[in-house]
Amino acid sequence: MGNSQLAEVPLRWVEPSRDCAQIAALNRSAGIETCDALTDYGLLHRQTEGFWVYQPSSVMEAVQGWQRLMREGRRPRIRGSGHSMHGGSVARRGEVLLSTLQLNGLQWSLDHPEGPRVCAGAGAQVWTVDEQAREIGYRLPVVHDGGAAASVGGFISAGGFGVDSDRYGGFWNHVHSLQCIGSDGVLRTLTPEDQAFWTCFGGGGLGHLVVAADLRLLPLNTASTKASTTLLNPPTTRAAHAWQRHQQLLWFTLVAPAQDEWQLRPIIAGLHHQFRQFWIPENPYRYPIARLEHPTPERFHTCGDQDLIACGVWGVPLVPREQLVQPMIQAIEEAIAPLPHVQRYWQSELSIDQR
Ligand SMILES: Cc1cc2nc3c(=O)[nH]c(=O)nc-3n(C[C@H](O)[C@H](O)[C@H](O)COP(=O)(O)OP(=O)(O)OC[C@H]3O[C@@H](n4cnc5c(N)ncnc54)[C@H](O)[C@@H]3O)c2cc1C
Repeated sequence: MGNSQLAEVPLRWVEPSRDCAQIAALNRSAGIETCDALTDYGLLHRQTEGFWVYQPSSVMEAVQGWQRLMREGRRPRIRGSGHSMHGGSVARRGEVLLSTLQLNGLQWSLDHPEGPRVCAGAGAQVWTVDEQAREIGYRLPVVHDGGAAASVGGFISAGGFGVDSDRYGGFWNHVHSLQCIGSDGVLRTLTPEDQAFWTCFGGGGLGHLVVAADLRLLPLNTASTKASTTLLNPPTTRAAHAWQRHQQLLWFTLVAPAQDEWQLRPIIAGLHHQFRQFWIPENPYRYPIARLEHPTPERFHTCGDQDLIACGVWGVPLVPREQLVQPMIQAIEEAIAPLPHVQRYWQSELSIDQR
């Protein structure tokens, strides 16, 4: 396709060797401070050759751009914050990278008859939405760990649990509706009554674009709820991207039914021991994920009817990651092979086969 055909949507051709500022901006959203190649938090997958960037700043722009790209037969590669590690948000040569960073509007409805909520653009960071909610006496029920990182769209597509998941389950339990553009170019509002709503969660990026999500808010305490009902809704704002440097850890998470945790423990202990040759290990982590009224989306885990547990090992790599990823993944896959209900957190984690 010639460049002229793409001129109707404001695409920008980016050559990593020349466009340091553009690459730096995209990498910074993933907490990375390099500009010689587009990469993600995992730092394993790097693009040094040219690609297109499309960065809509409104739902309308997203729809127009998406429709145009579909007509041209181009399936864009979607990137939220780039905090996944498998290269799924790293454009390949000549691809269109659709960055949601500017789709970061927040529209508050504290007085909604069915409970307080915020409609967050897909590119707003989950952490920032929660911080802004806390300033007015509310919070998101489920937020990931570790500071400003995932976008709302990225957390829906390839994440979804956090420290309060033992009580509130996955992020999916607290989304009233999603605005989503399908491969047919139609913008739809999906609610939990729609089967398609559930397929958006944990699919790891599937050819549709989540543009916004209506998120449930919990009051921080009853006193602040009472006070805030007398307040006007805060004005519609944008959640500016919060740059946060994260320690460059590698991690591997296994998700299983909670009742099988006894089988997971020796595996995690074994990997923790086995991997000490590859990294300086941190203590293994563990997140219970309660199953609430609706089964857990099956793209997140196939045992959706049960409480789940996510356990993992992590550490600071001692050797270049290209040398250690393959043997580590092989060791994990061998360890879990006899246990079909133990699944890797493939949606977000390091892999060698680029997604
Ligand atoms: C420091 C840190 C802490 C973390 N802690 C947790 C945790 O506690 N719990 C947890 O569940 N996860 C955690 N993660 C993993 C993280 O939640 C996921 O990797 C998440 O996908 C990152 O969101 P992102 O916006 O960076 O997505 P990206 O890395 O940009 O994209 C991830 C995938 O989602 C797709 N995608 C992104 N946005 C959209 C969209 N709007 N529409 C459709 N597809 C889209 C992309 O194409 C890609 O395939 C953590 C990651 C880091 C780096």
